[in-house]
Amino acid sequence: MEKLKLGISYFGNRIPWRVKEDLKAIRDAGCNTITHTFSEEDMEFYQPAMREIAAESRAMGLEVWLDPWAVGQAFGGETYSSLVMKELSLRQISSEGESLPICCLNQPGFQEYLLQWIDTAASFQPDGLFWDEPHFFIYPELEGGPPARRWACRCPACRALFQKKFSAPMPDRLTAEVRQFKEESIVNFTRLMADATKAKKLQASLCVLPFENSSTVNDWSKMAAIPSIDIIGTDPYWKPHQPEIGSYVGRYARRIVELAARFKKEPQIWVLNFNIPRGEEGKIKEAVDSAWAEGVRNFAAWSYFGSGYIQYRAEDPAVVWKTLSDCYQALSRSVSR
Ligand SMILES: [Zn+2]
Repeated sequence: MEKLKLGISYFGNRIPWRVKEDLKAIRDAGCNTITHTFSEEDMEFYQPAMREIAAESRAMGLEVWLDPWAVGQAFGGETYSSLVMKELSLRQISSEGESLPICCLNQPGFQEYLLQWIDTAASFQPDGLFWDEPHFFIYPELEGGPPARRWACRCPACRALFQKKFSAPMPDRLTAEVRQFKEESIVNFTRLMADATKAKKLQASLCVLPFENSSTVNDWSKMAAIPSIDIIGTDPYWKPHQPEIGSYVGRYARRIVELAARFKKEPQIWVLNFNIPRGEEGKIKEAVDSAWAEGVRNFAAWSYFGSGYIQYRAEDPAVVWKTLSDCYQALSRSVSR
């Protein structure tokens, strides 16, 4: 029988006996995988709760993943980082010399924090760690606007590494060499994290941002080629009223499936389960079906119950949750037939 991974992410609740009720609902909805966020706040204040939540998730028969949610603001995540406030020397520096509220992937102090994060996360005995959207600072104009003037990072660590690689000082313009340097920095950082994950005998999963600019990775094959990565995915979230979701998500699914086949990884697609207007819940099925048609068998959705507890919630979270659950249960039936 074909192996299906049907996942959901979970955040916002650190009361283990309440989480347990949601874990039952998650299992009953047809999920077999859960990604728990494990933020800096969790590291500082909720380690016992997270240990219990991971154990309850396993006891419920769910595969458990932990996510460095917004750690240093260098990953995806809608929460705060205290590192960017307390450790100013770890911050990215813009081309114009401003200190930015995001840690630099090249800063050894940030990498050390993450190695501690991995130690702690691994002690909760998850199945894997989820490296979500590692990136340099993304200026608003980088998302589809005119070509960016400002960029990051020109911190001392980046300037020293650039000098070593190119035997020239790092320019303050976004040259081809700077772009190459930034992309290689993200790849090297991801490799470091994935290697440390494997050293703990855990699986490593990676999500690449579905838009390309100088602060993300453009050549996804460089990420897929990292030997210690087991799962490569992306999160082609759509906007309200966006048409033709099937072909939009299918395009990304095809790209991920091809890469995964080439580098012998497992392909994964994240499905939008937030910010969905009432009446557009059917797009969830279009997304799932098109990724399935491309060969994706590992799905995850962001986030539990239509994200009905955060400001970017779906308008009708119960319908979103029911729609996802129906999709997952239909996929399960189709492979067990
Ligand atoms: Zn830097």
